[in-house]
Amino acid sequence: MVIVGGGFGGLQLARDLRHPDARITLIDQRNHHLFQPLLYQVATTILPTSEIAWPIRRLFRRRPDVTTLLARVTGVDAASREVLLEDGQRLAYDTLVLATGARHSYFGNDQWEQAAPGLKALEDATTIRRRLLLAFEEAELEADPARRQALLTFAVVGGGPTGVELAGIIAELAKRTLWPEFRHIDTRQARVLLIEAGKRVLPVFPEDLSAYAQQALERLGVTVMTGSPVTAITREGIDLAGEHIPCRTTVWAAGVAASPAAKWLGVEADRAGRAIVRPDLTVPGHDDVFVIGDTASVSLGEGKIVPGIAPAAKQQGGYVAKVLQARLSGRPAPGPFRYRHLGNLATIGQKAAVIDFGRLKMKGALAWWIWGIAHIYFLIGTRSRAAVAWSWLWSFLSGQNSARLITQREVPASRTD
Ligand SMILES: Cc1cc2nc3c(=O)[nH]c(=O)nc-3n(C[C@H](O)[C@H](O)[C@H](O)COP(=O)(O)OP(=O)(O)OC[C@H]3O[C@@H](n4cnc5c(N)ncnc54)[C@H](O)[C@@H]3O)c2cc1C
Repeated sequence: MVIVGGGFGGLQLARDLRHPDARITLIDQRNHHLFQPLLYQVATTILPTSEIAWPIRRLFRRRPDVTTLLARVTGVDAASREVLLEDGQRLAYDTLVLATGARHSYFGNDQWEQAAPGLKALEDATTIRRRLLLAFEEAELEADPARRQALLTFAVVGGGPTGVELAGIIAELAKRTLWPEFRHIDTRQARVLLIEAGKRVLPVFPEDLSAYAQQALERLGVTVMTGSPVTAITREGIDLAGEHIPCRTTVWAAGVAASPAAKWLGVEADRAGRAIVRPDLTVPGHDDVFVIGDTASVSLGEGKIVPGIAPAAKQQGGYVAKVLQARLSGRPAPGPFRYRHLGNLATIGQKAAVIDFGRLKMKGALAWWIWGIAHIYFLIGTRSRAAVAWSWLWSFLSGQNSARLITQREVPASRTD
């Protein structure tokens, strides 16, 4: 079996699939599994990278049936049952599972990416962290008030959970953490904008929780701009309909596009590029190829699909393990995949959250604690759990964040030294 992608879906599958006849090759373009729900905390200096990512090879050290390969897949030859690697090698499979996730989408405006990085990988998080910290450093050196104001304006585009979480912590960073350390600027004067094209932030949550989230953000000092589609983004600023906002740091949290798995297989995809799979998560025409997680479009009926969230990817990985185990043992296949929605959660800064568990809805500090405990529980290993809990406690009590080093400094294009 070849599994491509050691994210939530692929990892769950490799962990659950144990059969004496199974040999698993797990391929990922990165050497680590990443806990994306806490990526925004790396981008905003709360957590160091090593607390939310683990080498995949190490996770399977006690599984001789699992071979881990660091390689980038560029295609699939389904006729000859081979996976194509970037370096030209071909890897044969009996069963293939594509769990290659999604990237951000700029809705056809890919030129915005340079000015407004999205948040998906550790590299994205450290790029955003570097830009945030450098903006304050450059503002401290800047004599011109207009340029200083642009440096102290931070925009987050997209009012979903990631956008809300980023904006809240950036505001806390400026207004709570950094201000005593600067002499020429007052970081508390920084503007943090959360720009959303739709009518409200957190559109997947009930309206009252969205309204609470907006008020909580505003209390932290975030300017929430709803109904404001962005028309252009450069390193100098953002254009909204009829308005230009000078702004040197923009983060993109607005759209996702699936990995090109559907293209590799030549199967039908939905508008976001997700491969449309059958109820058992195989793709039409290929009983031996499964697509799971963010890169699959799994129908829930009535035009709805399974959401692109971690529990959905894990459930799909667990389900495919059962299907494959049944096939290997000659047992009848389990019924179609059934998705169980556990709820939606989002934090606003380090003291409030909103939770929608269906019948149970919560907001405020207690919701934040529940969010925190749930996230610590889902991390891998005691060391990471203890380290994250300690980082949060320290940040909560002292107002100080531990991951504030600026590394790999980008030299502005205007400088040649
Ligand atoms: C910033 C952010 C915050 C999020 N917050 C939450 C949250 O709070 N709660 C929640 O439930 N969900 C959250 N999500 C969504 C959740 O992380 C995804 O739904 C989940 O990761 C999907 O799992 P997956 O296995 O499909 O893909 P991923 O976990 O993305 O894994 C895909 C893997 O495939 C690898 N890969 C991709 N292309 C190739 C290739 N060509 N060759 C080799 N390897 C490849 C990647 O390196 C990656 O390891 C968040 C996502 C982001 C980006």
